[in-house]
Amino acid sequence: RAKGEGRKRFHIYEPSVKYDHVVKYSHELELASAIERCELELWYQPVYNTFQSKIVGAEALLRWNHARQGLLSPGDFIPVAEETGLIGPIGDWVLRRASADWHLLRETFGGDFKVSVNISRVQLHEPGFVERLLAIVRQERVPSGCIVLEITESTFIHDVDSFSQLLKQLRGEGFTIALDDFGTGYSSLSMLTLLPIDTLKIDRSFVHHMNPPLLFAILAMARALNLHVIAEGVEELEQFKKLVEMDCPGVQGYWISRPLKLEQLLQGINGIQGTAERIPIET
Ligand code: C2E
Ligand code: MG
Ligand code: MG
Ligand code: MG
Repeated sequence: RAKGEGRKRFHIYEPSVKYDHVVKYSHELELASAIERCELELWYQPVYNTFQSKIVGAEALLRWNHARQGLLSPGDFIPVAEETGLIGPIGDWVLRRASADWHLLRETFGGDFKVSVNISRVQLHEPGFVERLLAIVRQERVPSGCIVLEITESTFIHDVDSFSQLLKQLRGEGFTIALDDFGTGYSSLSMLTLLPIDTLKIDRSFVHHMNPPLLFAILAMARALNLHVIAEGVEELEQFKKLVEMDCPGVQGYWISRPLKLEQLLQGINGIQGTAERIPIET
């Protein structure tokens, strides 16, 4: 809390902020050509279903393989992309890449395999977003039912109505909608009944602090609302076991697997289906 306030108030006096501006500016310039230079990469983190005891999908996570700075995480450059409008072409690239990769993933994991893509608020707001999304999945010949669109909870604080409309349209087209980072503090519970969503992704802070009564309540509520649930950030066997005990259907996290390059995912996890079996690949 204090940090957020401090940032706003003392902006120009902080040397680190000044440095941030320099980094940001150079990122702005370089990000514009990152797609052509083939510096963007999608890594995939498996999504495990505890009822079926198998990998049923993967979340595409964007990386920027920067020429000098190495592999950058989305937190380092997505905000810049959002501010500059580059999120449009970058988001399209992500959707196209994930759709193309889906064909290989389904060969390994089966036809029901779902690939999840993170969609930023700014991207959703762009005119023509739905049309471009549809054009991409059609061109890449991916059934919309195999694409999950992950939208962070905080997206909805303003303007629940217009987002609901958009999500209804997307669901009507057959896409699965997941509410990402659920529980991080923005949505009211009643909002959940208003939003046309399919899946709750419980934020990893809940898994980290492992508060069974709270998790139990979230799972019960999700069941009552007919929502699928995926717990994020499962790092330890103990957490995994607890979640299985509580009948949490979906699990994602370092304990199952870290995000992997496509080739690694295709090689490493194929055939491993045991519930308590740790997937042996680490990166
Ligand atoms: P997210 O969608 O909530 O993704 C989960 C993040 O948690 C990922 O970080 C993942 O690497 C990390 N994670 C997974 N398992 C564990 C675990 O067991 N422990 C811990 N501590 N962390 C874990 P990453 O890849 O840095 O992505 C951060 C965020 O950036 C994502 O959060 C998502 O909101 C956003 N993002 C990622 N890719 C894209 C993209 O293509 N487009 C947009 N717009 N946003 C993206
Ligand atoms: Mg996500
Ligand atoms: Mg997120
Ligand atoms: Mg999340």
